[in-house]
Amino acid sequence: MLKFIQRFRRPKFPVDLPLCQLPSVLDVSKATRVLVFAPHPDDEVLGCGGTLALLTDHCQIRVVLVTNGSGGGDLPPEIGPRRCLEWAESLAHLGIKNVSYLNAPDGAVVPAPGLQHFIEAEIDAFQPDWIFSPSMTDYHRDHMAIAQMVQSVCFQFACVKQLLMYEIWAPTWATHIVNITPVVTLKREALLLQKTSLQYGNYLQAIEGLNLYRGLYLGFPNASAEAFWVVTSTPSSWRMDCHQFWLRWLNFFHQQNK
Ligand SMILES: [Zn+2]
Repeated sequence: MLKFIQRFRRPKFPVDLPLCQLPSVLDVSKATRVLVFAPHPDDEVLGCGGTLALLTDHCQIRVVLVTNGSGGGDLPPEIGPRRCLEWAESLAHLGIKNVSYLNAPDGAVVPAPGLQHFIEAEIDAFQPDWIFSPSMTDYHRDHMAIAQMVQSVCFQFACVKQLLMYEIWAPTWATHIVNITPVVTLKREALLLQKTSLQYGNYLQAIEGLNLYRGLYLGFPNASAEAFWVVTSTPSSWRMDCHQFWLRWLNFFHQQNK
C-alpha cells in the first residue's frame, strides 16, 4: 500500500517539454514608433542600445529619462546635469535626438500617481507601437517601480502592440533576442560617451559579456545579442501565462515585505 501511494506522489517529469526552449529571434522590422523608458542615464544603452541602433533605420524613437542619475552608487549629488549631457550625446551617437526628462529623484522612484500620469502622457503624446522598459524582476527598486507602472498602463493605449523589458541588474527571463553583432562597435562607442557612469563601474565589459552570453542562442561564433522579456497586447501564449504568474508572485512578495 505504501509503495502504491509513493508511486502516485512521485512528481512526474514533463517529458513533452522541448529539449531546449530557446528565445525567439525578434523581428525588429515590425516596429514603427518606439518609446523607451530609462530609469537612469546609461540604462537604455546597456539594456537595448544595440537594438535601438538597428531600429533607427526605420523607426521614430523617443527616449524618456526618469531620473538624472545623481544618486547612483558613490556619485556626488551635483553630478546629475553632467550625466544628462553625456546621456544625450550617447543617444545622438546612436542616431536618437528625441528625448524627454522627468527629473524624478534618483533612488526614490515609486509607482505613484505622479509617475503614472507622466508615463500615460508620454504614451498618449507619442503613440508608440513598441515600448521598452526595465524588467519587473530587476533588482533595482527604481527599475522595478517604472516597470510595474509601465506594464500596468501601456496596454490601455490601442497603439501599443508590445512591451519589451530589458535586463540591467538581473538577467531577465528571455523570451526574445536581437542579433546586435553588426552594431556592437556603435553600442560600445555610445556607452563610452557616458564617461561619468563608467568611472564607477566596469559596465562596458559587463554588458559585452552579457551580450556575448545571449549571443550563444544565435548559434554562430562571436555573436552578440540583447535579450528581452516581451509581453504582447494579445495575451494568448504560454509566455503570457508565465507573465501573469510573475505578476502574482511579485505582488505576493511585496505584500510579504510591507
Ligand atoms: Zn538604472
